[in-house]
Amino acid sequence: MVLLYEGKAKRVYATESPTQVRVEFKDSATAFNGQKKAEIGGKGTVNAAVSAQLLTHLANHGLATHFVKQLDARNLLVERLTMIGLEVVVRNRVAGSLHERTGLPEGTKIDIPVVEFYFKNDALGDPLLNDDHVRLLGLASDDLLAQLRREALRINGILESFFLQRQIVLVDFKLEFGFNADGALTLGDEISPDTCRLWDAQSGERLDKDRFRRDLGGVEEAYQEVYRRVMQ
Ligand code: ADP
Ligand code: UDP
Repeated sequence: MVLLYEGKAKRVYATESPTQVRVEFKDSATAFNGQKKAEIGGKGTVNAAVSAQLLTHLANHGLATHFVKQLDARNLLVERLTMIGLEVVVRNRVAGSLHERTGLPEGTKIDIPVVEFYFKNDALGDPLLNDDHVRLLGLASDDLLAQLRREALRINGILESFFLQRQIVLVDFKLEFGFNADGALTLGDEISPDTCRLWDAQSGERLDKDRFRRDLGGVEEAYQEVYRRVMQ
């Protein structure tokens, strides 16, 4: 199969269908714009299964996602999208770069979820953009930006309650969108412990990539714990 793209966490392959691609989830992990690298045993299979489960859950709630089916432990068949060059981040609690940007204490509850747009550009370190920057770069029209914000907030509501039922606080997460062959705005990429901050609702224990970013230990165990709770 022709490899179309190899990223930091996944490989994208062509399929017999021009409108579908296969996404392979790797065990490789990177942080701090690729400066920190490691292999996390079982990460690929956890992220594939968790993404499949969450994308299916969103589709059941009427959202357009790229997910078609899971092919095997680390491969998903998805609709091929023309990706929008933005990362859409939604935040329910202060953490990570929002803590660093604002000085607000980590864990502070956010009443009205914060939506942010980042420029998907490794060379620039994925900088935060405001609406005017997005327009200047021609990444999305004002209408599309408003639509992305609405979709992201809808997804947030659905995922927040999904995780809370499993004793997990959805602190923040990143989404990527694109357009399918029919030109429909569609949720792509993955939703996993790599792309979400997930805290145990009782203990506050980090069950996500922050264990790797911050050398907290127990990385593989945290990913397995998210898998166990998401699949139940
Ligand atoms: P990165 O490019 O940030 O290193 P990954 O390793 O996750 O990230 O690579 C996966 C790539 O596939 C990303 O660039 C993502 O935008 C892209 N992608 C995700 N879903 C689709 C899709 N349905 N069709 C085409 N490309 C996709
Ligand atoms: N995120 C991601 N990919 C990125 C940047 C961020 O999946 O390239 C996710 C990250 O896991 C977190 C949320 O987006 O759940 C917000 O990340 P933040 O801006 O705090 O950046 P970080 O400090 O994690 O790099």
